[in-house]
Parts: sequence; C-alpha cells; structure tokens
Amino acid sequence: MQALTNRAKPVSRKKMNLWESMYLPEILRGMFITFKHIFRKKVTINYPEQTRPFSPVFRGLQILNRDEEGRENCTACGLCAVACPAEAITMEAAERQPGEEHLYREEKYAAKYEINMLRCIFCGLCEEACPKDAVYLSETFAPANYQRKGFIYGKKDLLIPHPKEDPEAYAKAKGSRKLHPEGHGNEK
Ligand code: SF4
Ligand code: SF4
Repeated sequence: MQALTNRAKPVSRKKMNLWESMYLPEILRGMFITFKHIFRKKVTINYPEQTRPFSPVFRGLQILNRDEEGRENCTACGLCAVACPAEAITMEAAERQPGEEHLYREEKYAAKYEINMLRCIFCGLCEEACPKDAVYLSETFAPANYQRKGFIYGKKDLLIPHPKEDPEAYAKAKGSRKLHPEGHGNEK
C-alpha cells in the first residue's frame, strides 16, 4: 500500500533473540533516559506557590474601575456590550439619586453589570470601547469553578476595591496599569 506521507516507518517483524526477548536492554535504556533528566533544569514549577511572569500585554479578568474618590466610573452607556464580539456583557442602567454622588461619578450608572467569563475571549474590545475608563482587563485570570453559573461575574466580583477604604487591595487589583480616571486610554 502506498504511504500517505514520507514519514511512514516500516515495522520490523523479525524474530527476537533470547537477549532481546528478556527486554533488559530496553528497560535499561529507558531507565537511563529517566536518570538523565534528574540533573537537567526543571521545566515545571510548583504552582500555585510559584507563578510564571505574565507577558506585559496579557489580558486577564475584567475590572470595573473607580475614580480616585472611589466613585464608580461606569455610566451604563452600553458601548462595551455593543463592542463585545462574544456578547458576554449585560447590564441594567439606573439613575443616580440625590445623595448618591459619592457612589457614582455620572448621573447614570450600571445597577447591574455582568460578564459571562465562559463566553469572554479576553480580546480587550470592551476596554477599547469604554469612553469612561470604567472597564479594563487586569493581570489576573478567572479561577476554576465547578458550576457554569460561577463564571457569571457580577458587579461584586468585578468592581475594584475602594481606593480610600482599602488602598492595599485597590493597588493590588490595579496591578501595574496606569489608569486615567478622567477618560479613555489606559497605558501599560
Ligand atoms: S474582553 Fe472581549 S469578549 Fe471579553 S467581555 Fe470584553 S469585549 Fe467581550
Ligand atoms: S464599562 Fe464603559 S462602555 Fe461599558 S457601559 Fe460602562 S461606561 Fe459604558
């Protein structure tokens, strides 16, 4: 039969002699290969105690941003949802009430904001589309979950910690991103 590729290798079916039928040379050869690797540099790491550095252009889990006063930036304009090719973002808008100026920066805010992480392809288009610097992709990724509904991230999962109430957690969530609280254009 004609071979489909030139990588085909004919199998030798010659009868094994006594030495070969004891499989000893092959066992020793296999052990030598294993032994050889003991002294080589390990390619694995002890995750999660150790982690590998991410690429500077890594796009991870979304974060809903606040301004320096701790007010939510998002004005529920829906541009991120329109830009999303995976239709992963849903939101419900609400009107800011008198006395809520310290909570929401704009007169309209997202009462509900959800991202389906099973749909998200981490393309970053939501971040590009946002005119309020309200959503950006962080340097973390969504942890594993046993249930599909565990991948629907709501505001409580996405909102960055308050910069004044919890500055340490805020700085950690922000990572190395330089955010412009007054408009579009995050930088690395
Ligand atoms: S990163 Fe891309 S796929 Fe994910 S929510 Fe944003 S626009 Fe949609
Ligand atoms: S995250 Fe940005 S683009 Fe999306 S609704 Fe809020 S303000 Fe608009």
